[in-house]
Amino acid sequence: MTVSPLGSLVVVGTGPGHPDLMTPATAAAIERATDLVGYGPYLDRIPARRGDQTRHASDNGVELDRARQALELAARGRHVAVVSGGDPGVFAMAAAVFEAIEKGDPRWTALDIRVEPGVTAMLAAAAAVGAPLGGDFCAISLSDNLKSRATIERRIAAAADGDFVIALYNPASRARPHQLGDALRLLRARKPADTTVLFVRAAGTPNCTVVEATLDTADPGRADMRTLVIVGARSTRRVGRWIYTPRSEVERPSASQRKASPGVVTR
Ligand code: SAH
Repeated sequence: MTVSPLGSLVVVGTGPGHPDLMTPATAAAIERATDLVGYGPYLDRIPARRGDQTRHASDNGVELDRARQALELAARGRHVAVVSGGDPGVFAMAAAVFEAIEKGDPRWTALDIRVEPGVTAMLAAAAAVGAPLGGDFCAISLSDNLKSRATIERRIAAAADGDFVIALYNPASRARPHQLGDALRLLRARKPADTTVLFVRAAGTPNCTVVEATLDTADPGRADMRTLVIVGARSTRRVGRWIYTPRSEVERPSASQRKASPGVVTR
């Protein structure tokens, strides 16, 4: 196959769900594309634009095939937008595109390929509750589709020992009902029982819900595939209605102040 120098591929993320949180650059890239490639529900978030834009919807979990399909279209001269949710570089299609290039036709490296940043779920979830990511934080996906459970456990343990705020992506799925329970058990063995745990569902949308708990009280059954779980650092705490992690290494509030924070709050 010849690779057309005129084709292009842009990898975009639609943000956490509401159109307001899709960046203008992403909207423009989608508008320019002749072809949209992505998981069906993500493509459904994009209003139909014009008759000459082709949609290639696929199932979840076939990222590499989807990436190859997009690269083949671009190599034929099409202008392809590969669509993820959130940010395309966070547990999403951007890395799959580069992996497909690495494993695929060497001429694909000559294509015009760009990645547009998007608003990842972790940022929308944090904003919904205050500033829990105010200090150092990390993100871990609990999906074991592409990595072993041993790797996930080693990283959770390291994040706990480093006292990072931890954003847990993919906390639950039908295929992995025990994943979050296992992670919380591991965290309980390494962090204080009163560590803040937040379940933020449908962040960045009008249907956003927040459940605030502690490691002691957190019920893994509260998480589904639209939930982002944030596990606090030692200094993560409540002020009024908000949860934040101070940027400085300031003293924790006194025990009496901390008792004011209830076990599980739904808002
Ligand atoms: N690329 C996406 C993440 C894909 S992994 C991003 O940057 O956001 C899918 C996981 O992201 C879900 O299982 C869930 O944990 C999280 N997620 C995606 N959208 C979310 C939302 N609106 N609210 C809460 N969590 C969300």
